[in-house]
Amino acid sequence: MAKNFLKVTCKDCGSEATIYSRATSVISCTVCGATLSIPSGGKANLIGCTVLEALE
Ligand SMILES: [Zn+2]
Repeated sequence: MAKNFLKVTCKDCGSEATIYSRATSVISCTVCGATLSIPSGGKANLIGCTVLEALE
């Protein structure tokens, strides 16, 4: 089964966030406002965060 959610940390401030792996909009860090993910071909392209864990 595909993993739908990813637990990530912001590269800029280190805060944790949970994002949808197929997010279709830009996701920003709620703490510092850095862009964490942009949509790319139907799946999220993680540009400003590091994946800690894949969640079911
Ligand atoms: Zn941040």
